[in-house]
Amino acid sequence: MKTHGYFGGTFDPIHNGHLSVATQLVESLGLDTLWFLPAGDPWQRQPTANKEDRLNMVKLALNTYPLLNVDEREVHRHGPTYTIDSVKEIRHEHGLEAPLWFIIGADSFLNLTTWRDWQHLLDYVHIAIACRPNYDLKKEQLPPALRSILDNKLEGDPKLINTPSGKVSIIPIIESPVSATQVRECIRQHEDIRSLVPLSVNHYIHQYHLYQ
Ligand code: ATP
Repeated sequence: MKTHGYFGGTFDPIHNGHLSVATQLVESLGLDTLWFLPAGDPWQRQPTANKEDRLNMVKLALNTYPLLNVDEREVHRHGPTYTIDSVKEIRHEHGLEAPLWFIIGADSFLNLTTWRDWQHLLDYVHIAIACRPNYDLKKEQLPPALRSILDNKLEGDPKLINTPSGKVSIIPIIESPVSATQVRECIRQHEDIRSLVPLSVNHYIHQYHLYQ
């Protein structure tokens, strides 16, 4: 049975940090395909670029990665984007048995309790928290709800998990210190972003005068 992973984000714009996490997670989780899931209208923030441009940049960036793909559903959905809606649909499409992973960065995990129906995410998927080595999630500083998730759902080796959903795994990654905020700021300052984003994304940003 194939194992799929989904990597949600605003991707405003997609950058080399996202691609580095994605390729490392394909390996660590033994994924057959990792789907980037760009948010259409993220309800917690107002993206700078519109959703069509953000989607186009994700597509361009993934062009040369055969195991990375884009799932466009949230961009085409009307109304605010909630991850819970997507994981329900995704589970339905893959059937009850298929192992599914939802990937988030450690910073997003710390924010998880603000997501709509977050307690039900694990009914549909496993969650992989991409974490730089030695990044301490400092269990004692987590809100009790997140601490309880780590106490009850944490599984060391993700490749040993044989259930379709319900587990959390912390996956050490080699950090790539890039953020979309930094990319946008560099563009505003007229600085070179060629080391931060794929060449195709750099071209797109300049062609359409994004983030200026
Ligand atoms: P912004 O700077 O605008 O907040 P971002 O760079 O964090 O954006 P998002 O699209 O918000 O990008 O991130 C999508 C996911 O990717 C999040 O779960 C985030 O934690 C993770 N992520 C982003 N950049 C990195 C990175 N350099 N290393 C590891 N994870 C990252």
